[in-house]
Amino acid sequence: MDCIFCKIVEGSIPSKKVFENERILAFHDIQPAAPVHVLIIPKKHIPTMNDVSGEDDALMAEIFAVARQIAKELGVDESGYRLINNCNPDSGQLVYHLHFHLVGGRNLGPLLG
Ligand code: 5GP
Repeated sequence: MDCIFCKIVEGSIPSKKVFENERILAFHDIQPAAPVHVLIIPKKHIPTMNDVSGEDDALMAEIFAVARQIAKELGVDESGYRLINNCNPDSGQLVYHLHFHLVGGRNLGPLLG
């Protein structure tokens, strides 16, 4: 499959990992938009948020738990952070493998500013 994040999961493309278990991988974004910019992905290939189904409920809950844990470990839980999912072209989604951007470490300003 020609998916850059599947290749990161396989290890054929390197990444700076911050969390990994059998279902989820988190790694630093290659072009960070802030001092903390981590991508949290399911290892399973799900193209977009629209493709998440009821059978992924536990996986999604775990992704959110991992996000909370990473925010704490990277020291942005109290100062604040955003958890962002881009879905489809108008959002600017570039990689069609579900991912959540955990962004923080500076004042992020208005959401769409
Ligand atoms: P999207 O616009 O799809 O929500 O964001 C995709 C993100 O993936 C971008 O922030 C981009 O910098 C990041 N990205 C793309 N290719 C790679 C890569 O090979 N390694 C890492 N670590 N991040 C990547």
